[in-house]
Amino acid sequence: MYQNLFDSHTHSDNSHDGHAPISLMCEAAQAKGLMGFAITDHCECDDPKLNMINRFAAVQFEILKAQAAFREQMTVLCGIELGQAIYAPDVAEALLEKYKFDFVLASLHNNPGHVDLCHVGFEGENVPEILQNYYENLLKLAQWNKFDALAHLTYPLRYIQGMQGIPVDMKPYDELIREILKTIAQNGKAIEINTSTLRQGLGMTMPSLEYVKWFKELGGEYVTIGSDAHWAKDIGTDLDVGMDMVKEAGFEYFTVFRRREPKLLKIL
Ligand SMILES: [Zn+2]
Ligand SMILES: [Zn+2]
Repeated sequence: MYQNLFDSHTHSDNSHDGHAPISLMCEAAQAKGLMGFAITDHCECDDPKLNMINRFAAVQFEILKAQAAFREQMTVLCGIELGQAIYAPDVAEALLEKYKFDFVLASLHNNPGHVDLCHVGFEGENVPEILQNYYENLLKLAQWNKFDALAHLTYPLRYIQGMQGIPVDMKPYDELIREILKTIAQNGKAIEINTSTLRQGLGMTMPSLEYVKWFKELGGEYVTIGSDAHWAKDIGTDLDVGMDMVKEAGFEYFTVFRRREPKLLKIL
């Protein structure tokens, strides 16, 4: 069992698909013995109903209260999961300008002009075309670079393979994915090991160990680990698997971002 587990990806009921009040998340994190966690509620930049631009002050107020209440027990960080920043960069940049964050996690949930991959029925769809489009846009997001860590690199697998049981050959995207990882490494940013898919049927993390090893080979230094919990009970789940992977990929440290700066923490 690791001594210093930190969950860098969690959602409260301030996310459109989150269920846990921040107070319950704090209690759950404390019960699991975490050294801390980051609250990374969704801002879907390309959806005016789901971007946080006019709501985040209230969210931040709640996080500040949690930080004060649990100050003695653990670290609670103010993060955001910035979805589709490159489809609406003005929204993303305005949000980053307006509020102070500890941690900005960038993600891509949909291809341009399409719904979140979680709502797509892939049977009969041109899956290779969807994936090609997805990874081309993910590379653009990596190049945009105004974030700290890239979330769930293999997000499409959660739905196509994990939930809808359609096997995916990832080989055609190897080159694009290596380019994404290289860009992130060169920019001094992090990738995330997202453990949610271990409890959601995919049977591996997003991304799997192979890609974390590539990131290390390409000069990457920073890896964050997150459960992507949307319920209090899921906070901290399988972070130890993420720690094992970071170690196995050859890193001596995992990373937590505070005030947008990477902090290397020994894997203990
Ligand atoms: Zn996400
Ligand atoms: Zn998330």
